[in-house]
Amino acid sequence: MTEGVSGSAGRAPVTSGSSSNGFDYLIVGAGFAGSVLAERLANDGKRVLIVDRRPHIGGNAYDRYDDAGLLIHPYGPHIFHTNSREVFDYLSRFTAWRPYEHRVLASVDGQLLPIPINLDTVNRLYGLNLTSFQVEEFFASVAEKVDQVRTSEDVVVGKVGRDLYNKFFRGYTRKQWGLDPSELDASVTARVPTRTNRDDRYFADTYQAMPLHGYTRMFETMLAHPNIKVMLNTDYREIQEFIPYGHMIYTGPVDAFFDYEYGKLPYRSLEFVHETHAREVFQPTGTVNYPNDYGYTRISEFKYITGQEHRHTSVVYEYPRAEGDPYYPVPRPENQELYRKYAALADARTDVTFVGRLATYRYYNMDQVVAQALATHRKLTGQKTAPEPA
Ligand code: FAD
Ligand code: UDP
Repeated sequence: MTEGVSGSAGRAPVTSGSSSNGFDYLIVGAGFAGSVLAERLANDGKRVLIVDRRPHIGGNAYDRYDDAGLLIHPYGPHIFHTNSREVFDYLSRFTAWRPYEHRVLASVDGQLLPIPINLDTVNRLYGLNLTSFQVEEFFASVAEKVDQVRTSEDVVVGKVGRDLYNKFFRGYTRKQWGLDPSELDASVTARVPTRTNRDDRYFADTYQAMPLHGYTRMFETMLAHPNIKVMLNTDYREIQEFIPYGHMIYTGPVDAFFDYEYGKLPYRSLEFVHETHAREVFQPTGTVNYPNDYGYTRISEFKYITGQEHRHTSVVYEYPRAEGDPYYPVPRPENQELYRKYAALADARTDVTFVGRLATYRYYNMDQVVAQALATHRKLTGQKTAPEPA
């Protein structure tokens, strides 16, 4: 895989600038951020080496067939949705799609109720028969007055009041983040809207679809360019001294890059427990959330998400953890402050570009990472930058 790479006597990273003997770019991480940039730069005629310390491409969006032959997402359920035509059109070069609208139920007070909270959630939870108009009045009557919406608690109690907050958000958030919603930025629970109609889709985006043959196949197509070499099972620090390259693109955790100079930047982790069951269907929808019971936050059943037909079914339980692989930046003011110190170090590194969810410490969905990578490509190549859709 390192064909065409000449060795180097230098001990320090070999950043030759024009790198006539080596790669123009060393990309660290083969997730969305790294793979989109690899593809874009290779398409410009640049020579790219992309390395990942994991044994596969795709980052957290990687999927594979399990022993039963079911397509699963080892790092938790990944549902693609975006409002960005640019992102959707770009990815459509590498995959066909299967339309899919994700639906989630929350296990509350012995019932499975739609989340995001909608008209049916309220009617079924309280045994009411409200109309859309009346439920709006209901929300207004139970909502708490919040002068300034700052935290994840403010967002919810300010819209639907304390009881719905306690039943659907407080326990889930405390489990997921190890923090009370009052300790987290508003942006976290604001990801989940409130509806007065009966729309029970988890997302309302214009484009909602899954890669027809899975994410990994899409990444394979993206990286199948003669200018791209892929090196797996490799931490970039193992090879950076020996392989000449012009510029680095780094998509791993930003604090690790700087050897935790200012201390560890909090990232939340998860433990994924996968199970296969010898029956066709496990639960009534793609994901069931458990805000108030059990150690896990949710169970997802892949067949709904992938559309695969099979006699058996595979599910994944998500158990939040403080330690382990970094999956989520934790949005709260003190972390943002610490990140800003790392961001200043990152900005000073003209030889490295930081991009992606972990490297820019942003709670980004896949489409936002793709948009950020496309914008980064434009910056790197001096093209006029369109605003970064978020
Ligand atoms: P990653 O995918 O994390 O890729 C970074 C890569 O860098 C990793 O593969 C890592 O191994 C590699 N790396 C790090 N350090 C080094 C090193 N030193 N040397 C070599 N390699 C290194 N988004 C959605 O849009 N929809 C969803 O439904 C959704 N569900 C999610 C569910 C879960 C449980 C999680 C955790 C995330 C979910 N996301 C979802 C978010 C999505 O996973 C991310 O937005 C996206 O995958 C981030 O891509 P990335 O390239 O920035 O990072
Ligand atoms: N959330 C909650 N109850 C739910 C669903 C979500 O409290 O039933 C909160 C929780 O804090 C969660 C956040 O909203 O972390 C964002 O939810 P989302 O489903 O977007 O999380 P992700 O899929 O990124 O893990």
